[in-house]
Amino acid sequence: MNRRQFAKNLGMSTAALGAGGVYSFSSERRHPQVAITLDDFVLHDAPGLSGAARNRAILDALHQHKLKAAMFVAGKFVDNQTNLPLLRLWDERGHMIANHTYSHWEYPKVEFQDFRRDILRNETLLEQFSHYRKFLRFPYLSEGETVEQRDKMRAFLRERGYRNGHVTIDASDWYVDGRLRGRLEGHPKADVAPYREFYLNHIWDRAAYYDGLSRKVLGRGVKHTLLLHHNVLNGLFLDDLLRMFRSKGWGLIDAEEAYTDPVFSAAPEVVPAGQSIVWALAKETGKFDKILRYPAEDGNYEKPKMDALGL
Ligand SMILES: [Zn+2]
Repeated sequence: MNRRQFAKNLGMSTAALGAGGVYSFSSERRHPQVAITLDDFVLHDAPGLSGAARNRAILDALHQHKLKAAMFVAGKFVDNQTNLPLLRLWDERGHMIANHTYSHWEYPKVEFQDFRRDILRNETLLEQFSHYRKFLRFPYLSEGETVEQRDKMRAFLRERGYRNGHVTIDASDWYVDGRLRGRLEGHPKADVAPYREFYLNHIWDRAAYYDGLSRKVLGRGVKHTLLLHHNVLNGLFLDDLLRMFRSKGWGLIDAEEAYTDPVFSAAPEVVPAGQSIVWALAKETGKFDKILRYPAEDGNYEKPKMDALGL
């Protein structure tokens, strides 16, 4: 399954800082740092874990680690009486709330003006929250297929006061989550421990890859933003994931703190535009093609491994 098929299963339709500013920062950060960012806010219930209970579990895990995350919300998932109060809890607890468009369209497939309106429609819904910040995360991390499409949107966002809510560590938690939910639907009492192990290993593998890549490309570690989703997997295992990072010597930082890293002001001149900002900067150099796959992350990479483990 790829990201687009994943979206269909969920019922979804389908600044330039000079390179010097990015590359000249040479101090090595000995201990990597990572912030948690979560996308979508899809709150389907799962056997043994309702959407509301999962919301509480994720908030509690963040609270345990005194961490403020960023929630990139697609308005269509929360624009109702049931879910909007659940999102309000994030605002009340001081987490950053940001824009993931209202309809979760894939930008290259819709007209610029429609996509622009969809961003503003989401802004109108979300600006009631005091922790709303003008960051846009493109659905599927898809920032445009052509230079014209990419630059038109970059200009609009700049004008409107938005920054790109880039991720540095891209991953496929959504895919592992889909497999876990599939298992629980058939076997509500299934042992979830092997999914936990697979998930932690997967995120660690991706985190190590992108941190290594940033050191190769920029000569330094960056303040990472990890892409996760508001899903059952994180309702069950986010606390374990945060503990894992700590046990490996990584520091946990708030999302707004992470976005102070100058890497997030980069605007790599690559098309298709998108993916992890570290990936795109690597691509832009033309020197790392052997270690850059496209798409950078996809369920298809994880499927054979999960099949082999019977997950
Ligand atoms: Zn999304």
